[in-house]
Amino acid sequence: MDKNLQEEEFTQIIKFKPSLNKQRHQFVRDLVEKYKPKKVADLGCADCSLLRMLKFSSCIEVLAGLDICASVMKEKMHTLSPLPVDYLQPSERSLTVTLYHGSVAHKDPCMLGFDLVTCIELIEHLEESELKKFPEVVFGFMAPRIVVISTPNSEFNPLLPRVMLYRHPDHKFEWNQAQFQSWALETARCYDYSVEFTGVGHPPTGMEKIGFCTQIGVFVRKHPQTGESVQAEKPTEAVYKTVFKAVYPSLKDEKYLQNAVIGEVMFTAQIIKHRLMSKCEEYGDDPEKKSKFQPSMDCFSDYLGKLVIEKNMEPFVSGNEVYIPLARIFSFPKVNRLCGTFEKLCKLIAGKVTLSSDGSAVMLNTEPENEDN
Ligand code: SAH
Repeated sequence: MDKNLQEEEFTQIIKFKPSLNKQRHQFVRDLVEKYKPKKVADLGCADCSLLRMLKFSSCIEVLAGLDICASVMKEKMHTLSPLPVDYLQPSERSLTVTLYHGSVAHKDPCMLGFDLVTCIELIEHLEESELKKFPEVVFGFMAPRIVVISTPNSEFNPLLPRVMLYRHPDHKFEWNQAQFQSWALETARCYDYSVEFTGVGHPPTGMEKIGFCTQIGVFVRKHPQTGESVQAEKPTEAVYKTVFKAVYPSLKDEKYLQNAVIGEVMFTAQIIKHRLMSKCEEYGDDPEKKSKFQPSMDCFSDYLGKLVIEKNMEPFVSGNEVYIPLARIFSFPKVNRLCGTFEKLCKLIAGKVTLSSDGSAVMLNTEPENEDN
């Protein structure tokens, strides 16, 4: 088939599903799943859509966005704030999201110590002078373990409807595969990274040579570096302006952990009480059965007997109170996981939960829960 005719036909039908933008972001997400970075910076983050997706990756604790255009970042930055549910159920990981206004042509210490730096459809927006400085800033100064760079593949343009010179009026250039790969290989060589090429947006069958619609280079640093040594060696002045910062509620923060533990302790205690009271009702008239689940029910008035029971794991009733040993509550997996140690449990609930005189059991009223108040 005549090549021009073939391409002409394709201009009518090339449409990516999911959209190229979604495919690029999914590519980054897969990379995050593979490498599990803790700190990720997105350069040229625009409307923060990639950051919005990445905040759900549970390995990430620090997310940063940088863009030279403050207004585009500000448009939707509120969507990066914690939601009410984040406060109701704080996550086990900590997460801080920060947006900076500045240029990738400038170094700022806030960009040190990242594990992954993403530059999705950024480099083609850079002026020649900025593009020259970019490798030194990203690979020389920031020096993350991984850098991912995506950019349009100009060889694909004839297949795209309505593309005349470039895909976007702000693009300063668009490279073919050879141009991108030689720039990337030279950059990798200079800064001691390896680079692999891939992309998203498959070419039509029979036209594989033109490559992916979006070409991607994944750079991996060849030698490990510790965050501290990097920072110590690279004193620079702060030039970026912070335009947004959100610290998510996390169980790593003692005040959220305490709330969560108290909630879980009371919930667990109510469950144990409920089970005990149901058994009481069920076996209440049968002294033989009663003694099986509550062997010392008849010796509550005996102070010594009560002490013995309090050391036990079994809940018991005395007068109008139900005593649920903390040791029993601690044996519940969620409480156990939240606190780690029995001592920590005691410390976190001290003064916040009504305990028996020796502090070994949670005390609840025997009345049904909804009549407690
Ligand atoms: N990464 C985005 C799209 C990027 S569009 C996404 O995945 O959807 C390119 C972005 O780079 C624009 O928001 C533009 O403002 C920003 N940009 C251009 N020059 C820049 C520079 N020198 N430093 C930082 N950001 C720049």
